[in-house]
Amino acid sequence: TEPVHIIGGGMAGVEAAWACARAGVPAVIHEMRPKVGTFAHRTGLLAEMVCSNSFRSDDDEHNAVGLLHWEMRAAGSLVMEMAARHRLPAGGALAVDREGFAQAVTAAVRAHPLITVIEEEITALPDSGRWIVATGPLTSGALAEDIRKVTGAEQLAFFDAIAPIVHADTIDMSICWRQSRYDKGETEEERTAYINCPLTREEYERFVDALLAAEKTPFREGETAGYFDGCLPIEVMAERGRDTLRHGPMKPVGLTNPHRPQEKPHAVVQLRRDNALGTLYNMVGFQTKMKHGAQVEVFRLIPGLENAAFARLGGIHRNTFINSPSLLDGAMRLRLRPWLRFAGQITGVEGYVESAAMGMLAGRLAAAEAKGETLPPVPRPRPSAPC
Ligand code: FAD
Repeated sequence: TEPVHIIGGGMAGVEAAWACARAGVPAVIHEMRPKVGTFAHRTGLLAEMVCSNSFRSDDDEHNAVGLLHWEMRAAGSLVMEMAARHRLPAGGALAVDREGFAQAVTAAVRAHPLITVIEEEITALPDSGRWIVATGPLTSGALAEDIRKVTGAEQLAFFDAIAPIVHADTIDMSICWRQSRYDKGETEEERTAYINCPLTREEYERFVDALLAAEKTPFREGETAGYFDGCLPIEVMAERGRDTLRHGPMKPVGLTNPHRPQEKPHAVVQLRRDNALGTLYNMVGFQTKMKHGAQVEVFRLIPGLENAAFARLGGIHRNTFINSPSLLDGAMRLRLRPWLRFAGQITGVEGYVESAAMGMLAGRLAAAEAKGETLPPVPRPRPSAPC
């Protein structure tokens, strides 16, 4: 049988190779490290955990990621097996000794007679064969550029933006009010899904000054690649012009302040309900690279948020991912070039476990295809809200 080639030996790549090998199909992993590094990886080991050493909850009855652990174990996951062998005490979470874990995965992969590892960077999408692209959120620049060329600029994102989330009971409703812009929405619930914070001209100017002066987290080396235009950080918008924000996420149109119906606010910050209970609200369009301490200070200048408690602060991080629902078919193949599959975080999932699971799935699909078998198609994801 012709081998399945896998670009990237991270969480998804090793699971894909393992799934192929378990099915009796040879696999070749092309991994650029240690020759070419990323800003987050520290070693040349396969399946390196770049940040936390946790695979999160191991509770397979009450937790989605715990259930995924269970399913992956049942399906013969290498990541789950090595995680169990290198487990550290961590309550209900599956935390591991990261070095021991990555060493064990690397040793198992390298020792398998059906798996070959080649240390090289792949800089362009291959033209033929059977390939799985599992290069993750930090896909090297040359390959990311080629993916962009093949799929179209609109189909590849480079950054993920996270807006801050506020506890609703800390918002001062004697200043703020509930209303959707232009009262849009079918139901009363939809029409009141937003909380609005009004700013006068002076308050807006003070806010912009503080935003411009605040301490920001710089992008790390190799992390910059131009912003993903739909998700600019608010401070970058403010740098483009003092009024940019009030024509963007802080535009005051389509809203009437019931506390002061005669006065038109100069700018408005909108918060959108973030959970079914209505206890958390998301600051719409407020993704930022401000340091966490600075975020609290600057956001508390917004009228109504003087005493806000934040459930999460904003951020922006490098994350290369494709628009899978439109680009991939039910066998995770690129519709335009069906000899290429995608797996791992580059498909739009996030996290070690989810990425490894996608690798396993892509590996099983590729191995079945190599053997002339077919597997049922992957279910279509439900659409999610834009950032
Ligand atoms: P990766 O594990 O990144 O593997 C991709 C591999 O491809 C890498 O080994 C890379 O060297 C290689 N590669 C890239 N380009 C090429 C190329 N052109 N040719 C050959 N090889 C290539 N997830 C969590 O669950 N918890 C966390 O705490 C967490 N923190 C994170 C912090 C940071 C800074 C980042 C960047 C990510 C974090 N993640 C975290 C996400 C997690 O790292 C990913 O979900 C997971 O590693 C993705 O698996 P993957 O196999 O898709 O990609």
